[in-house]
Amino acid sequence: MNMEILGIHHVTAIAGDPQTNIDFYAGVLGLRLVKVTVNYDDPRSYRLYYGDERGHPGSIMTFFAWPGAASGRIGPPQVSVTAFSVPGGSLEYWAQRLDSLGTMVREPIDRFGGRVLGFADPDGLELELIEASEDPRLPWQDGPVPVRHAIRGFYGVTLAEEGYQYIAKVLTETLGFAPVQDQDARFRYRVGPGGPGAIVDVLCVPDSPPGRMGTGVVHHIARRTPDDSQQIGWQERIAGAGLNVTPVRNRMYFHSIYFREPGGVLFEIATDPPGFTTDEPAERLGSQLRLPPWLEPVRTELLQALPPLDLPTIHQGVVP
Ligand code: ZN
Repeated sequence: MNMEILGIHHVTAIAGDPQTNIDFYAGVLGLRLVKVTVNYDDPRSYRLYYGDERGHPGSIMTFFAWPGAASGRIGPPQVSVTAFSVPGGSLEYWAQRLDSLGTMVREPIDRFGGRVLGFADPDGLELELIEASEDPRLPWQDGPVPVRHAIRGFYGVTLAEEGYQYIAKVLTETLGFAPVQDQDARFRYRVGPGGPGAIVDVLCVPDSPPGRMGTGVVHHIARRTPDDSQQIGWQERIAGAGLNVTPVRNRMYFHSIYFREPGGVLFEIATDPPGFTTDEPAERLGSQLRLPPWLEPVRTELLQALPPLDLPTIHQGVVP
């Protein structure tokens, strides 16, 4: 079977307070809150999904929100930085916007010819905005950020690793990535034709303290596959490479398999379909709590355990 990874599908991280998370990702970064649901493995906590207008794969930032959970520590082996793509010439706008809304930004830097603005979210999760002049993806048109500056989707991620050889082997020999450039301890790879959304940087940091799961840390990264049959093909190929891979899990909006690359970062391969309009219409995405069929019988119980949320003003409402 001819199989190709289509780039990043989503990045899942751990947040503390869900309202703070919504206020930052929807209110400050201007992403659309496309789904309010619960963590299927821990349904007394929220899972929040953000993205472009429909939450297309490649734009989906998602969080498990665990109020009061201990802070994590960013370090190997983890996704240490998540980067979003913004149009060329936007960083001044963003530096000013973030600063005026209370987020401390660093001086922009140049990396492999692109300008990069670094900052952290309210839980300490490390983020970057990277200027990409040629990103054909459309941003959400109705967000608080002017369309000419709005986030287009992911640019890429940085993987913090102790060593380099094993992850390089999995990326190139198993998943079909190709090396692009390297500088110091940073090795850039792309998949397919490359460009925003198809980039992964491996950063070797053998002397850093090891990462620890908790708020402000990425839990896993998912890559895109177009359909279920290719996903089965990936399952076979990953197992064939000597890595443990899970059975297919139904995540309602996509189907998933998971494995750990040899350095220790949790990878997922997720299908593009069915997407977020499978259980609510596009214009109502993220406007109320959605539960999978197997949790509907306990909706009332869950609502008692979940804190009420003020959803972004476009929705004018409180869950449910
Ligand atoms: Zn995932």
